[in-house]
Amino acid sequence: MILPYLGQSFKNLFSKPVTEAFPAGDPPKAAEGYRGRLHYDPELCINCGMCMRVCAPQAITREIVPLENGDQQITFTYDMTSCTFCRMCSDFCTKKAITLTDDYMIVGSAHEDFLVSGTFIKAAPPKPKFTPEQLEAMKKAAAAKKAAAAAAADGEKKPEEKAEAKGEE
Ligand code: SF4
Ligand code: SF4
Repeated sequence: MILPYLGQSFKNLFSKPVTEAFPAGDPPKAAEGYRGRLHYDPELCINCGMCMRVCAPQAITREIVPLENGDQQITFTYDMTSCTFCRMCSDFCTKKAITLTDDYMIVGSAHEDFLVSGTFIKAAPPKPKFTPEQLEAMKKAAAAKKAAAAAAADGEKKPEEKAEAKGEE
């Protein structure tokens, strides 16, 4: 019986397609919770390294370049060719510096197309006000002052002690 098939074919000719017109038109929205392209915000990153520690495939690298003024230039790179999109890095990042977006259009022709990276400058800690030698000299001066004060107090007490001793006699 070919007639039912002919009927269905005829019906399909005038019905809307059930498939998405993709890549023509807007790409369909990913399902809620979809884990797609990584996004990294170096402005939020505090260089704790937690994302690197929890990334099982070691898809995250960090480059630290010391600068002349003592600051450090820090670059984090997330390699989506190794990434399993597990979202552990995002879950463990207390600063929300890394997120997984709903962008599934991860296509490219070179390895660089699959790298997500960002750079920030970590300022050097403030220099101590005094050198270790100055601190040592200050410590010695303070100890000498304390000893002198103790000696002076002893000197003042001696006559009273004598008087007390006489009274006891
Ligand atoms: S992205 Fe987050 S977890 Fe990774 S180093 Fe920066 S602050 Fe730490
Ligand atoms: S999503 Fe998972 S595999 Fe990908 S960079 Fe983050 S921790 Fe690594």
